Amino acid sequence: MILPKTVRVAGVPIKIVLQELDGDPYGYWSLDRRTIVLDLNLTGKQLRETLCHEMIHAALDLSGISFAKGFPDEPTVRAIETLFLPAWERMQKRLKATPNEKDFKGKD
Ligand SMILES: [Zn+2]
Repeated sequence: MILPKTVRVAGVPIKIVLQELDGDPYGYWSLDRRTIVLDLNLTGKQLRETLCHEMIHAALDLSGISFAKGFPDEPTVRAIETLFLPAWERMQKRLKATPNEKDFKGKD
């Protein structure tokens, strides 16, 4: 997998860097540095999932919602990551499999 060096979230350019973290944590997001740091020992699915997790943290921070008093940051990230995204990915595959745009939309 070729890991991009940057990603835009909410229009903000974010650096993606690999560092030796010894797997604890697998990665982290720094709002101050606009950087996602991932353990350089991660590969494949773990690397993708950790990047996804940190990008959700970035989105919640950049939206400002995660600074609301008592906001359950980690459970929210995990719910989006483990419940919403797999459902959305399945839906995207079904949408791509739709042979005719008109069939999907129905008749106007
Ligand atoms: Zn987290």
